Amino acid sequence: MASSPTVLMRLMASAYSVAHRAGTIVRNVVAGGDLGIVEKCGPNDLQTKADRLVQMTICSSLARKFPRVTIIGEEDLPSHDVDEELIEEGQCEEILKKAFPPEYSSIKEEELVVWVDPLDGTKEYTEGLLDHVTVLIGIAYEGKAIAGVINQPFYNYEAGADAVLGRTIWGVLGLGAFGFQLKEVPAGKRIITTTRSHSNKLIIQLIEGKASAYVFASPGCKKWDTCAPEAILHAVGGKLTDIHGNPFHYNKEVKHMNSAGVLATLKNFDYYASRVPENVKQALVP
Ligand code: MG
Ligand code: MG
Repeated sequence: MASSPTVLMRLMASAYSVAHRAGTIVRNVVAGGDLGIVEKCGPNDLQTKADRLVQMTICSSLARKFPRVTIIGEEDLPSHDVDEELIEEGQCEEILKKAFPPEYSSIKEEELVVWVDPLDGTKEYTEGLLDHVTVLIGIAYEGKAIAGVINQPFYNYEAGADAVLGRTIWGVLGLGAFGFQLKEVPAGKRIITTTRSHSNKLIIQLIEGKASAYVFASPGCKKWDTCAPEAILHAVGGKLTDIHGNPFHYNKEVKHMNSAGVLATLKNFDYYASRVPENVKQALVP
């Protein structure tokens, strides 16, 4: 007899549905023609209407179903009653049918921490680089990223005006990752990517065989930027750490900034870690 879904399964199933809904909101804000941009800390730190609506949707929908889970979102938003229309009730049935690793069955709601980046790539979003945008929901247990959902609202945009836009990728450590085709970079090739704005599109390139290593050799990204991609990458055997090879911790008490950069690979992590120049490492203090 099938047992009832565990807290983690239910949380993932809800996170998937709300991430899917978030993708629709992100596209609708663009279609509406007014991004509602405000500067948070200067012209490189922007917030749009999509950041605000998506965070409200994700945090309120999950908090309503899982009141004891700690949910940490990027945006500082005034706390007031959220419009009922923003609440997503759905749960992805496919996730509820999966055989999650048994070690997660005793996890209690209050032991989980959810890291939410309602819109990763806001700067790119305001510049019209829409395919760089992702919605990130990462789930941590005992400080470790164990599950994640990434929605790409504009995935498939090259396919033309009639194409269905968007997809949702998800993964759980010990179970695997779904919603995309895992590919490796062709043998004999090494492709290193980096960026000044730590776009998570680049992490997706690792699992789709378009890059071998992702290096972000600056401080500036935060726990909500890395939790979901780390869980998905680790679920397929990859590795994501700071530039020194130290794992990130995602307990609710940790500082939000990942001050020592990011190094991520699908394969051969040790090789790429050994190639990071000493002066780069010294400049990035954990
Ligand atoms: Mg971000
Ligand atoms: Mg963001």
